[in-house]
Amino acid sequence: MGTHLVLLGAPGAGKGTQVGRLQGDLGLVHIAAGDLLRKAVKEKTLLGQKAEKFIKQGRLVSDAIVLELLEDKIRGERKGFILDGFPRNLFQARKLDEILDGQNRKLDLVINLEVKESVIIERLNGRLVCSGCGRVYNKENLGDFSSTCRVCGASFFQRDDDNPEAIKERIKTYLRHTYPLISYYREKNILYNIEGEQSPKEITQQILNFLSKKGKS
Ligand code: ADP
Repeated sequence: MGTHLVLLGAPGAGKGTQVGRLQGDLGLVHIAAGDLLRKAVKEKTLLGQKAEKFIKQGRLVSDAIVLELLEDKIRGERKGFILDGFPRNLFQARKLDEILDGQNRKLDLVINLEVKESVIIERLNGRLVCSGCGRVYNKENLGDFSSTCRVCGASFFQRDDDNPEAIKERIKTYLRHTYPLISYYREKNILYNIEGEQSPKEITQQILNFLSKKGKS
């Protein structure tokens, strides 16, 4: 049976960056709640229209909408996955357990990226995303804002919710709803904490080493 991972961490903790790096190495399917929601918004589907204002404000979209978007995907990925942005509250975490239990599967590991608030705010304010491949950059280390993606050459955009007001709300939402998942998974003995202020490369290496020790890669 495949490996089932969850990446946990505040907005801007580096979940997306790590998934991009791990996906190839582990051969797992990436299921990103935020990406799927933004796609629905862009395509103006019914779900997307309902979700849009919550995303812009940095609040959680309703569990019903998120589950409608994700449940079948989670059920369908029988060979394993990396979940990013889901679960984001206890209800979603219990629902995920229920879905997997019903298929005689279980979560193998929850990786929690720990980053302090000041760093998160700095990262999110400076974040630029490639419109072609979705790779994440930061204004600071780009130097020139008008430059294009080093990998695919497409232009950058700034996410609608990467503005100071929404960032403040997203951190508040994280602390209130998502942070409690750390103890939820610690009690299940599947939590692995990583210091998220190390370089992306160091973090990937640490995750891969841990997985190989557990015989999961
Ligand atoms: P980040 O981790 O940088 O905050 P994401 O791309 O994961 O960004 O999510 C963007 C937004 O999409 C969230 O702020 C929230 O509004 C919505 N969202 C994503 N995942 C969920 C979820 N599991 N439940 C409710 N809302 C979600």
